[in-house]
Amino acid sequence: MTGWVCGIDGCGLAFETVEEVILHQTNEHERHECKVCGTIVPDGYLAIRHAFEEHTRAEYVRAYGASSEEVREREEVKEEIEAVADLQAIAEKLS
Ligand SMILES: [Zn+2]
Ligand SMILES: [Zn+2]
Repeated sequence: MTGWVCGIDGCGLAFETVEEVILHQTNEHERHECKVCGTIVPDGYLAIRHAFEEHTRAEYVRAYGASSEEVREREEVKEEIEAVADLQAIAEKLS
């Protein structure tokens, strides 16, 4: 098992821990502009988290043209990450 792979389009870099993936996504990828509210957020997990915690599924689907399957997939990624990630440590590193 190579651990965690960055899922941002065309990247595919693998990291040992989920914290490293999130830091990589935050520092090395371009920021993402939320299509619902226009806030600039780091791409990857943090963009997913923003979308699902700040907005409803319906808003997300409308703004991104996502299918319910895509919504489910992203929710699964989010849950998977939250099950193992030390989000407190990540927030401290990012601040
Ligand atoms: Zn990447
Ligand atoms: Zn937003």
